[in-house]
Amino acid sequence: MKIMKVLFAGYESAPYYKRGGLGDVMESLPKALQGIGVDARVTIPYYREIKKQYHIKKEGEFYVDFNGKKEHIGIYSEKYSNVPFYFLENIRYLSLSRAKDKTKRMGQFAFFDLAIVEFIRWLGEHHKWRVDIVHPNDWHTALIPLILKKRKLEIPTLLTIHNLLYQGVGSLKVLDMLDIQDEEAKTLKRGVPANEMNILGEGIVHATRVSTVSPTYAKEIAKAEHDHNPISPFLIKRRDEGLGKDDPLRHEARKIIGILNGIDYDVWNPTKDEIIFHKFDIDNWEIGKKDNKDDLLRSLGLEDRPTFCFVGRMAVQKGLDILIKAVEKAAPLDINLIILGSGDTRIQASILKMAEKFPWIRAELLYSEDLAHKIYAGSDFIVIPSRYEPCGLIQMIAMRYGTIPIASDTGGLHDSISNGKNGFLFKKGKSARLKRVIKHALNIYKDSIRYKKMVQQAMKKDFSWDKSAKLYKKLYEEMIAVHS
Ligand code: ADP
Repeated sequence: MKIMKVLFAGYESAPYYKRGGLGDVMESLPKALQGIGVDARVTIPYYREIKKQYHIKKEGEFYVDFNGKKEHIGIYSEKYSNVPFYFLENIRYLSLSRAKDKTKRMGQFAFFDLAIVEFIRWLGEHHKWRVDIVHPNDWHTALIPLILKKRKLEIPTLLTIHNLLYQGVGSLKVLDMLDIQDEEAKTLKRGVPANEMNILGEGIVHATRVSTVSPTYAKEIAKAEHDHNPISPFLIKRRDEGLGKDDPLRHEARKIIGILNGIDYDVWNPTKDEIIFHKFDIDNWEIGKKDNKDDLLRSLGLEDRPTFCFVGRMAVQKGLDILIKAVEKAAPLDINLIILGSGDTRIQASILKMAEKFPWIRAELLYSEDLAHKIYAGSDFIVIPSRYEPCGLIQMIAMRYGTIPIASDTGGLHDSISNGKNGFLFKKGKSARLKRVIKHALNIYKDSIRYKKMVQQAMKKDFSWDKSAKLYKKLYEEMIAVHS
């Protein structure tokens, strides 16, 4: 059978550049797909930060017309974990990973999407590698389906939404830059007269299929009234998929499918993690975790107490205000709380304020891969008070390292944690409930038989990509069959 060729495109990919879960998925899903016979490759911009740290070989170049100018694109490539990575270079548009200005960011990624479409042609010509599926991720690459259509390139596209909050809403000028007429992207124009567009929305309308990163989040966002989100209604029905008038599926089917993310078991593996000092597995976790915990607490100047942690972006979504309220209500507590994260300055300030008040709290307001591994390995519980969570990887990572999650009952947290068995779930947004669960968790911790059983269940839970990579493969096959 012919090997399927899938090109991933996105804003970031570990290990080269990562700020959140998307970076993990762009690294680990293509690798898992390669493992089951799909030729998956990855394209991201060649940011300045990547260029400084990695010296990647130049493989070729081409030009695109964008915003009335001819722009040069350099192609740099190398294989990482058996997956070919391509980095597209353009000094004007693709150097900055964090352009502050919204309009600049939209222009930047419109440019990247156009470059990818041209790059697809380049791959066919120079490598005889003809793409069967293009797999864009999030709003940054959501213009690819529209640009492909405009170029009459009939390649099926699967758009994956990692977070519906970020949609790329802004000036319609982006379309001028791409030399696309307004009418071709008319679906989600805003304002009277219309002067804004929604890039993710266009992606949803024009992609062959849309997926998101957990079945529960797929259900949550495909409700017409979801958060008054203008693009939710577009996720409800499949278009153009040959569902006849009388087909019972017609009214039921969502255009969006939810497939739970996995984690890379080579990266997140306490038996061989190079970053942690004491390796451990399910048979000797008690000693292994204790040694890691001793080191972690010593390094942070904390005493030996039940240790809770938080790792993640400081964004409203992550519910740190709910954690603060719960801690204030529950204090005094005989615990440690270690918080690792960076982002919103106001959230950072309120975390610092709480840490100043309680000596048993440590706030590390930075991005540190190293410290993250040590925290996962050395904590007893991880608190995840997200307002919503498309999938969430931190609970999966923590559980693999024997750290019990205490999480909001939403999205991918609901799909990956069994309440009372391998973690705790509480009603989202409710600090009083979180307080109660923290106290309950502490009681379980004291009852060592129950606690040990929970840790074992958490460590045993399979979060590898094995199952989900197969679901993606099946979806690609379906898309190709419908398309041909
Ligand atoms: P999201 O994609 O919303 O950021 P996820 O839970 O899906 O959340 O993924 C977060 C990923 O980013 C995990 O791999 C986590 O370890 C990592 N991460 C987040 N913040 C930090 C930080 N400050 N330092 C190190 N790693 C972090």
